[in-house]
Amino acid sequence: MSLITSQKIHINKASSSRINDVDFNNLTFGSVFTDHMFECDFIDGNWQNPTIKPYGPISISPAAKVFHYGQAVFEGMKAYKDDHGKVFLFRPKENLKRINKSSVRMAIPEFPKDVFFEAMHKILELDKDWIKSGLGNSLYIRPFVMATQVGVSASPSNAYKFMILLSPAQAYYTGEVRVVIAQQYSRAADGGVGFAKAAGNYGAQFYPTNLAREKGFQQVIWTDSNEHKYLEEAGTMNVFFRINNTLITAPTNDRILDGITRKSVIAIAEKNNITTEVRKITVSELVNAAKDGSLKEIFGAGTAAVISPVSAFSYEETLYELPKQEPSFASEFKKELMEIQHNLTEDPFNWRYKV
Ligand code: PMP
Repeated sequence: MSLITSQKIHINKASSSRINDVDFNNLTFGSVFTDHMFECDFIDGNWQNPTIKPYGPISISPAAKVFHYGQAVFEGMKAYKDDHGKVFLFRPKENLKRINKSSVRMAIPEFPKDVFFEAMHKILELDKDWIKSGLGNSLYIRPFVMATQVGVSASPSNAYKFMILLSPAQAYYTGEVRVVIAQQYSRAADGGVGFAKAAGNYGAQFYPTNLAREKGFQQVIWTDSNEHKYLEEAGTMNVFFRINNTLITAPTNDRILDGITRKSVIAIAEKNNITTEVRKITVSELVNAAKDGSLKEIFGAGTAAVISPVSAFSYEETLYELPKQEPSFASEFKKELMEIQHNLTEDPFNWRYKV
């Protein structure tokens, strides 16, 4: 069975652009969208009618299964423009692989690679003026899939819609990030969907994150769901710890998203001869390291903020403040990653993908 009836993407251009209405110096992350969006439907066992059209509301039945059973997955990636106007994606094949892995877990049909890349090229060509050059500026790309079959029977949908939205983004400063180590709630469980970018994983995090916010913390560090003993992720980022000069991060498993920034940080650390340990790390190891002064840094890694340093963590109602590091692993990794993404330096790993 071929995955798609016709790969030819139909293009319906916006009659005018909204770009002049946008203040590119005051963007709130993920709130402004470009002139176009991509859409492709899965009907009768095939992906069909790939279309780029003006960004705007879509019509969908209130009985569509996505609203009742949350059968939906998504991705987050970015395009960058260098000072010569060339546009690049960062490791986009990884995002395609991951959305398809997420889809398989959610009983959603995989999306064909050729159409994904063709759509990416065409829509970025149309909306390339929305990508601003300059370190930190980017275009956040949100591919997603939802179940569109009409009917409230609890079974997998036989129809889906795959879409891509584009949203201009500025350098993203998270400011002071103070985190709470989860002792009651979990974001994922063994055998569950934590490794997938399933929509419901995120909705389920909001409540415990709100409880942390009420206490003055920005994020939760998620621990394993069995014993709350092992450190796993920070909010919607993978998490790294620096003890003395060793970089430590948890191995991926059923509960942890296989982050592209995480993989890239590990590769950069190894290239720079930083001792890197991909192993389980317990809360008690972290607390002891904070107490004896060997804990130097904690930071999150993810597409949106790239690297997000943590200034303090709370565990069992005790606050542990981290020392200021100059220079820090966090700032070094952020710099190296961003320079590769923006084509300001060599790309020894072949991560840049020219659009
Ligand atoms: N963990 C979770 C739960 C996430 O949602 C994300 C963001 N995709 C990450 C980690 C970081 O992944 P990436 O570096 O691929 O953005």
